[in-house]
Order: sequence, then structure tokens, then C-alpha cells
Amino acid sequence: MSSDDAAARLRELRREPPRFRRVRVRSITPLSTRMLRVVLGGDELDGFAIEAPASSVRMLLPPPGGDQLVMPTWTGNQFELPGGERAPIRTFTPRAFDAVRRELTIDVVLHDHGVATDWARGATIGDEVAISGPGRSEHLDPDARSHLLVGDESALPAIGQLLEAIPPDQSIDVHVEISSRDARLRLPAHPGATVAWHDAAAGAPPGDSVVEAVMKLDELADAVWVAGEAASVQRLRRYLFDERDRSRRSVTARGYWKLD
Ligand SMILES: Cc1cc2nc3c(=O)[nH]c(=O)nc-3n(C[C@H](O)[C@H](O)[C@H](O)COP(=O)(O)OP(=O)(O)OC[C@H]3O[C@@H](n4cnc5c(N)ncnc54)[C@H](O)[C@@H]3O)c2cc1C
Repeated sequence: MSSDDAAARLRELRREPPRFRRVRVRSITPLSTRMLRVVLGGDELDGFAIEAPASSVRMLLPPPGGDQLVMPTWTGNQFELPGGERAPIRTFTPRAFDAVRRELTIDVVLHDHGVATDWARGATIGDEVAISGPGRSEHLDPDARSHLLVGDESALPAIGQLLEAIPPDQSIDVHVEISSRDARLRLPAHPGATVAWHDAAAGAPPGDSVVEAVMKLDELADAVWVAGEAASVQRLRRYLFDERDRSRRSVTARGYWKLD
């Protein structure tokens, strides 16, 4: 390998993400037929902290079909299992953390099928997973007086945290797409919040109902936060920039998952 190739290869390598902390399931509580609250605990959570709402953690799960956690190796681009397969890692919102009990709460959407959703459906007390993070958080715009929060079920944990973090004298307009009526959750109370639940229309792309709802709004809030299926988030982002002239600074848009 020439020194140029070696330099190029080094540039391609990404810095190893924060270490994994091994934890065990301490409790599992259904929040709705579509969401499970999983509390994970263990001494390795010592020093973990959630500094701002809507951050993320990476959860390493046992390989599909197995129940034993296998620790992966960082190759410079991804975490791999000993057999060379990509490690089963998914991203979640650290919904709450109890530093005294060293317990981290994660709310997992039960969609049709996936490594994390299948794991959560079958999880029992004592099962082991590992957590890395937290990563990037949402720092609220100190100048905003009003907020528009838009998302789907995967964004509900982050929306819950944002509702808790936004000062009570500010207004919040929340729009959430749900795949069935019983996916509604009791969200944290906020004196300035209104919450609209939108049923996903059969056959429509995910997120369509909330994109439509935002397009119908006469006035937009000072700060807009959007998360959910990546294509719908991108559609809304483009709409806000191109049709509503929003500044980049006033819009936070995050793809939380990709269709297929
Ligand atoms: C910053 C961040 C925070 C997140 N926070 C949460 C959270 O708190 N709770 C949570 O449940 N999710 C959250 N997500 C989304 C979660 O990471 C994805 O939904 C993930 O794909 C789920 O993994 P899986 O193994 O169940 O499905 P995968 O194996 O990744 O996907 C399998 C199939 O399921 C589909 N799929 C994936 N997710 C969904 C979904 N939500 N609804 C419908 N179909 C889906 C995919 O299109 C694919 O066809 C977050 C994502 C990010 C980036």
C-alpha cells in the first residue's frame, strides 16, 4: 500500500464510538399495544448522564435468533461480530436516567419486525444488552417562544422529553402520526401544548399525515423539530426551506428510521 493509499484509508476510518456499557433488563412495562418501556440497569451505567432532550443511545442487541450478547469489534467503519457480520445495533432515545439506581429507560416501538422490535417483544428480566452514548442532543433555541414538534411513534420518547424541557410560558404545537388508535400515549403535561394525533392512512407513505398537517398550518412556530421516517422528514424539511422560507437554524429534522 502506498503512503497516499494509507493516508486515504486513514481518512476513511471513523473514530471508535463511545464504549458499550453492559446492562440488564430490570423491568418491562407496556405503555400501549405499540410501545414497551424497558428499564435497563447495571454498574456500568456509572457516569452516564442525559444532558439535553432528544439525544440518542446505541443499543447492542444479541444476534438475531440468540439470547447471548456478543461483544463486537470496531473495524474503523463499523462494529462487527466475530463471524464478520455487522453487529445488531439500533438507536433509541434515552428517555430517563436514574443515576442513583443506575437505571436507563428506553421506550421501544413494536412495529412489524426488526432486530430491536423482536428483541423487545421477547425480552425478560435479566436479559443482557449494551448501551453506548448518549450522542447528539437537542439544544433548544433560547430565542424561540413557540415550538412545532412533529413525529411518528418512534419520536414519542423525544417529544415527551421536549415537552418536559420547554419552559411553561412557551407554546407547543405537537403533531404525531400513529399507526393505530391505541398507539396514543399520555404525554407529559405542558400548559402551552396542544397535541394532535393523526391516523396513518392505509397505503400512504409513513409520515404522510403529519406532513399534510404541517402544510395546512397558516402560521409556523419559531422553532420546528421533526423526526420520523427519513423520506417524510426530508419532504417536510424541503417544504419548510423552499415553501415557507424557514432558516436552517429554526428547523431540526432527523430521520429516525428508513422504510425497508
Ligand atoms: C436519534 C434516534 C432516536 C430514536 N429513538 C427511538 C426511540 O426512542 N424508540 C424507538 O422505538 N425508536 C427510536 N428510533 C428509531 C429506531 O432506531 C428505528 O426504528 C430502528 O430501525 C428500529 O430497529 P428494528 O431492529 O426494530 O428494525 P430494523 O431492523 O431497523 O428494520 C426492520 C424493518 O422495520 C422497519 N421499521 C424500522 N423502524 C420502524 C418503525 N419505527 N416503524 C415502522 N417500521 C419500522 C424498517 O423499514 C425495516 O423494513 C430512534 C432513531 C434515532 C436515529
